[in-house]
Amino acid sequence: MAGKATSTGNRATKALKQRLESLGRSGVTHVAKSRPCMATTKTGDDKTKSFDPQAALDVIEHEVSKCTRCEELAKTRTQTVFGVGSPRAKLVFLGEAPGADEDKQGIPFVGRAGQLLTKIIEACTLRREDVYILNILKCRPPGNRNPKPEESAACREFLDQQLAIIQPEYICCLGTIGAQNLLNTTTPIGRLRGSFHDYHGIGVLCTYHPAYLLRNPAAKKDVWDDMQLLMKEMGIELPKK
Ligand code: URA
Repeated sequence: MAGKATSTGNRATKALKQRLESLGRSGVTHVAKSRPCMATTKTGDDKTKSFDPQAALDVIEHEVSKCTRCEELAKTRTQTVFGVGSPRAKLVFLGEAPGADEDKQGIPFVGRAGQLLTKIIEACTLRREDVYILNILKCRPPGNRNPKPEESAACREFLDQQLAIIQPEYICCLGTIGAQNLLNTTTPIGRLRGSFHDYHGIGVLCTYHPAYLLRNPAAKKDVWDDMQLLMKEMGIELPKK
């Protein structure tokens, strides 16, 4: 498991370094200071090209839509559920896998748990369009069973590609499956929540899954504590209640 994050400054520097290294591997030799990112490539004819994260995500989404790595999931899904939100989001919400509503609509977190997630995002003074929402698995496991380890492993490449393109500063893991998979740990969610972890320079805050909150409303207070911690770290001031 990746260690606990240090300071915000260190994390931002590390994330920037990794982004530049990753762009370098893609042949980018120059990056302008502000977004949208203008880049000159080694292979280009010296024309300034812009890096379009949405276009990059579209390429991966198309690949995911044809994926048959997990035979059972590929046979039983209505469609793949890639992700939704801003391709330049600072904050990514990571869930487990699509449910029946998501499988039908092709959009993550649109069922009852999704509506609660939208309320949580809005309580943080953000909109769904400001963040990016995705899952460990891009296909619905039949009967909403837990993802099998080999399915999470097969889908991991797509998740890592999404994160490499979006380059978020923070990931909020929703529930045990998302948190344990991302951080490669078996530590229970109750112990992972409440403090920051590190995933390749990205600050990770784990909290309970909204579906768990629907069954255990008393845990909403813990989630709100976690979100307040995350917003403080992100420099987002919340209105006093
Ligand atoms: N639960 C998840 O983990 N993801 C979804 O997209 C919907 C419900």
